[in-house]
Amino acid sequence: MRLAIFCDFDDTITRTNVTDAVLERFAAPAWLSIQEDWLAGKLGAREVLEKQMPLISTGRDELHTLIDSIEVDPHFADFALYCANEGQSLFILSDGFDYWIKRILRRALSAYNGALNVPVYACQLTWNEDRPTISFPYFPEGCIHGCATCKPALFDRLRAGADRAVVIGDGVSDLLLARRADTVLAKNGLAEFCHREEIACHSFDNFRDILKIIRSLDRSIHEPRKSDDVP
Ligand SMILES: [Mg+2]
Ligand SMILES: [Zn+2]
Repeated sequence: MRLAIFCDFDDTITRTNVTDAVLERFAAPAWLSIQEDWLAGKLGAREVLEKQMPLISTGRDELHTLIDSIEVDPHFADFALYCANEGQSLFILSDGFDYWIKRILRRALSAYNGALNVPVYACQLTWNEDRPTISFPYFPEGCIHGCATCKPALFDRLRAGADRAVVIGDGVSDLLLARRADTVLAKNGLAEFCHREEIACHSFDNFRDILKIIRSLDRSIHEPRKSDDVP
């Protein structure tokens, strides 16, 4: 049974939203009113980042110090190792930025010396002269949902060939995936959304829970059906 596992990054692999942490520390205060417009549904995720990110200014060292202090779920590495060993596809889909996601993942997976490579689909950020330049590779033409990274379009593209699609997440950008997935692992806002929409979901707190759920899913799929035992 081949799984395609789609995993969110902020507040799922990390304990906080990294973009918000960077904005809180280094952006001019106007980022907060833009955030309010987003929460009120007046702006899409991509528009919000286009308005907020130019408000940031800081040195690269200060930025790295903050990124390196972001807490990661200590069980994530075990989960990534399990997926690699079992040959299951694990993809990280994020409305965050590749610049810090990749740096944080290197730290989280450092015990494996680069042997574990989890593909990341996220917004792009480069750092020049104390300021970020951003772009949206997934997809530059935008989408009908206003996503920063269009998770549904990536999902449709990457799930091809898998028997079952699994979504792991916590927030707004994962909602459209929960509707498409065969199995949903959810916490916080995503769990509430699933309950409202009557989408079955497993709840989790950390990647130890997630590993347990994926293992039992894998096992139940491999078990022969009762009727197979009857001659
Ligand atoms: Mg999240
Ligand atoms: Zn979209």
